[in-house]
Amino acid sequence: EGGVELTNDGQLTWCTSLPYEPFEFQQGDQVVGFEVDLVALIAERLNATPTVVVTAFEGIQSGTDLTVGTCDLAAAGMTITPVREENFDFSEPFFDATQALLVRGDSGITTAEQLAGRNVGVQNGTTGADYAATNIPGANLITFEDLGLLTTAIQTGQVDAVIQDNGPLLSFATQNPEFTVTTEFDTGEQYGMGVRTGNTALLEVVNEVLATSRTDGTYDAAYEKWFGT
Ligand code: GLN
Repeated sequence: EGGVELTNDGQLTWCTSLPYEPFEFQQGDQVVGFEVDLVALIAERLNATPTVVVTAFEGIQSGTDLTVGTCDLAAAGMTITPVREENFDFSEPFFDATQALLVRGDSGITTAEQLAGRNVGVQNGTTGADYAATNIPGANLITFEDLGLLTTAIQTGQVDAVIQDNGPLLSFATQNPEFTVTTEFDTGEQYGMGVRTGNTALLEVVNEVLATSRTDGTYDAAYEKWFGT
């Protein structure tokens, strides 16, 4: 294992938050997705079994889960931000993302300005919640704990719009054609995986595996499998 200490022997214990299709979501009794495949490569490199711990995104992004030892690695479609970098260490970026606006196709909403006075769903602790609070001041923001609750809220009409990352919202709109992503805000985000501050042994392996996956075709194969292009 090259000096990498794992909390549970022989296991790469990793935290994620569900559902976050196509990055990580439940299929039968399995957790599957693009990021799940990348974590599997890291575990393989460590001769370890990947063991997933499903937890709230708030505990992941705040660094609490890593700090208290709930997991060695955090992978949750998580944007690298300066505030988070104060609480744990990020891998090199492995995916680009932006905030996006999901509405009903027949709603006529195409701009952030039209959200004034409307109920807009965001997820607790996310970059989307921050973005909406700063850039859509006229909206009535309602906070939910996960993406499943957000999409249920727009389906039931509790909210008129959802702001979250483009990947999962485009995936939802593809599967639920009455909804559409009308706008992508150019927030220029990048996803990274997290380790406890100072766990450079694990971080080096993560970065090495991510880099190798780009050159040996496994990243592209996983991308094609989960994003279909
Ligand atoms: N990328 C966003 C963030 O880091 C959302 C992540 C998520 O909801 N899993 O805040």
